Order: sequence, then C-alpha cells, then structure tokens
Amino acid sequence: MTRATKIVATLGPASSDPAVLEKLLIAGVDVVRLNFSHGKAQDHIDRAALVRSVADKVGKTVALMADLQGPKIRVGKFAEGKVMLVAGAAFVLDAQRSEPGDITTVGLDYKELPRDVRPGDTLLLNDGLIKLTVEAVLGEQVHTRVVLGGELSNNKGINKAGGGLTAPALTAKDMEDIKTAMAFQCEYLAVSFPKNATDMEMARQLAYVAGEATRHKPAMIAKIERSEAIPQLEAILRASDGIMVARGDLAVEVGNAAVPALQKRMIRMAREMDKVAITATQMMESMILAPVPTRAEVSDVANAVLDGTDAVMLSAETAAGKYPVETVEQMHQIALEAERAEDISIETDFTNKKFGRIDQSIAMGALFTAHHLGCKAIIALTESGSTALWMSRHNVKVPIFGLTSQPASQRRMALYRNVRPMLMPKMSDRDAALAQAERLLVERGVLKPGDTYAITCGEPMGYPGGTNMLKVCQVR
Ligand code: PGA
Ligand code: MN
Repeated sequence: MTRATKIVATLGPASSDPAVLEKLLIAGVDVVRLNFSHGKAQDHIDRAALVRSVADKVGKTVALMADLQGPKIRVGKFAEGKVMLVAGAAFVLDAQRSEPGDITTVGLDYKELPRDVRPGDTLLLNDGLIKLTVEAVLGEQVHTRVVLGGELSNNKGINKAGGGLTAPALTAKDMEDIKTAMAFQCEYLAVSFPKNATDMEMARQLAYVAGEATRHKPAMIAKIERSEAIPQLEAILRASDGIMVARGDLAVEVGNAAVPALQKRMIRMAREMDKVAITATQMMESMILAPVPTRAEVSDVANAVLDGTDAVMLSAETAAGKYPVETVEQMHQIALEAERAEDISIETDFTNKKFGRIDQSIAMGALFTAHHLGCKAIIALTESGSTALWMSRHNVKVPIFGLTSQPASQRRMALYRNVRPMLMPKMSDRDAALAQAERLLVERGVLKPGDTYAITCGEPMGYPGGTNMLKVCQVR
C-alpha cells in the first residue's frame, strides 16, 4: 500500500547508525531533518552524506531538511545546575549577572529581555512548565513572582505569553549554519522563530548567496512558533515555500488550547496558496520510551492527515527515542488508515477558484480528468516539480508521479503529499518522452496493460513552467 502523507524524521544519536537509518527509510521516512540546535557543522555534513548514501542503497527518494536553531532566548546557569522554584516566591532575571544563579536570581543568555517586558507580562520557562509574572523592570533586572513553580535548570528557554520578544530570527550561528546546509545542498531549509516575511526573505537570500557556485536553491520552510507570526501568516506563506506547524514553541506562546484550530487554519491556508505544510512536535511522544503510541497520539496523527498536512514529523522519537523504527512503522499505518477515510472534494475545491496560468490549468485538468475516469496514475513530466505540487494541493485517490530529469527536483518532491518522485532522462522528443514515462511506470509495476493514466507535459519539452498538454492514455 502506498501512503500519500509523508513522514519527516529527525536524525539524532538513536538514528545515526547506518543500519538503523536504513531501517527507518525502509519503514517509510521521506524527509530527514537535521536539527542544527545540536551538533557541530561537520556532524551535519557527515550525517547528510550518510543519508544520501543510504537512500541510494535502498533506492528511495529522500529529501534533507536543515533546521536552523534560531535565537536562543534562555536563562543562564545555576551554581547547583538547577533550582526548585516555589509558587509565590520572588525571582529575579538579571541580564548583567555573570555569576551562576541561585534560588533568588539567575543571569540571562538573552540580554534584551529587560527591554522586551513590562509589569504584568507572563514569562514561561522550560516549555511552559514554569510561569512567572513580571512585577517590575529595574535597569537590567526583571523582578518576577513565581506563579507556577518547578525545577529550573541551566539554559532553559524563555517564552513570553502572547509573544513580543524582539530577538531577530537569524543569529550569527544561523548564518554560518546556512552555509553548512548549502554545502550538502539541503532540499529544505527551515527557519526557526520567523516573525514576518522579511525574516524568510533574508534567510532565502543568504541561502541563495551561499549556493551561488552550485546554483542550488533550497525550498524555504517557515516554522510557525511565535505569536507575532500568526497575523503575518499570509505574508510569511507568500515569502516561503512551506510552513511547519511547530506546536512545541507555538503552544507556549499562544496557549495549548489555541493550537489545534491554528493547525487546521495553517494547513488550509498553505494548501490554498500552493505551499506545503508539516505538522510537528509530540506526535508520537510516548514512543520515545514505549513501543506503542497512546490512543491520543494515534488520533493526533490521523487528524493531521485529515487536516491535509503534507507531512507528519518526528523529533525526539527518532532522534533520541528507544523505538525509532517502530515509531515510523506505526505512523505509516495510522496515516494509511486515515487516508482511506478521507473525503474527496475536488469539485468543491474548484468552486470559486480561478486558475489563470496555463501550466496550472493543465495540472488541474489532469487531476479532474484522472479522478473522474478512475485512472491508475497521473504522470507529470516536470522539470521544477511545480506541476506535481499544484496537483498535490487537492486530494484525489489517484497517485501523482512526478517525473523529472533534475535530481534536486526529484528529492524536493519527496515532501509533497500524494506525489511519488522519479528520475527520468532529459528528452527533447515529446513522443519518446511519453513512451519512456509509460515504460517506467510499467516497469515499476504501477501500470499494466489496459490501465488508463493521465499525463501532462510541455511542448516544446524541457522548459520549466512550460506545461501545456494533457493526454489520457491506455497501456497496450
Ligand atoms: P523545535 O521546533 O523542535 O526546533 O523546537 C519545533 C517546535 O517548536 O514545535
Ligand atoms: Mn521550536
């Protein structure tokens, strides 16, 4: 059975062994995420090379996503490594303090905090487990009252409820990491904590400059995890190729309860704007330690699939968990089942929509035709992959095969929902190319004599954006 929804898995100590990685890819991983919050540049370069070679070995199209760390908004260190904060106690966050902290005060990695907060603000530490209310800002000191206590250890993260921390999205480290990621030609570059479209445009420029020599251009993913990003969503989407519903930090900033509705809205908007969406964080969290997921996790993954996400993402489950392979296997099964229950709404998808471009209209025509005829496959001969992307923004039960001569486009398509990327030699003769495409799918066992399929291409062949032809064929 083929699954339409893609799986993104984060690489880490639990999955960097070649044998485990091979099992992960076979179990269904489509995109590997390299998390630049951990490890050195060389580690990522080595891991990227490993992913490419294992993917080749198992004959699978796998994309690499480099995920930048973003600003570190953190407290400093404690003399004892940690303290136990008690509700009602006073606690001072001091930007000038260089000595280790104690039960009354701690230094700050993030020196701008005193200028970003005012009395009455709520600060959330350690993923929201600890809650502080700001009572006063005195020079470089933020005086707070503990509302929710708990253990606070070295360098834990700080969020402000409702957003408003001014830290820029791209740090000096991120700018270096972009160069590293471009050295291994990541297909996707994820930007942490973007506030607006400008953050994404800047990251894209830096990546393009770093990739000038090879002319490699990665697709840009905006991680939506800041309050400020929500009202800017449309502009951020326009400046990006996709978004990640980064539920970890987002939940801390906007409140847990707001996240499910935001997830649905973000995925819907992304699809409407022909962008991709990844749903991330804690999807199979309990499987870090247990061989089976909870019922709630099963529902969460299934609901993300029904929301229309391109991919569901695993973080610590595959990076540091005890059951990385089992987690991917279970996720695969859950997604498959959910897809079977999905409604096809292609007619209403097209209501009130205008497809003003020739290539996009042809893509929609192919989708509509293949759906109504019950075709076995839709084949898009596509250099950039955009025809396959447009097709994949609408659910149909017919699988879409994106055939390209560009290995980078092939790997980029690995994230697109319901798209199966394949490499095909570049051909200038249209009829030869059509015949070759059919032969490829027959060889793969997708098509057999008597099957019908819809195929799109550009005439003349081989120009990105040139799709202008749709043909419905029957295999003889
Ligand atoms: P992170 O991003 O794993 O890099 O923190 C995802 C999230 O915040 O949900
Ligand atoms: Mn995050």
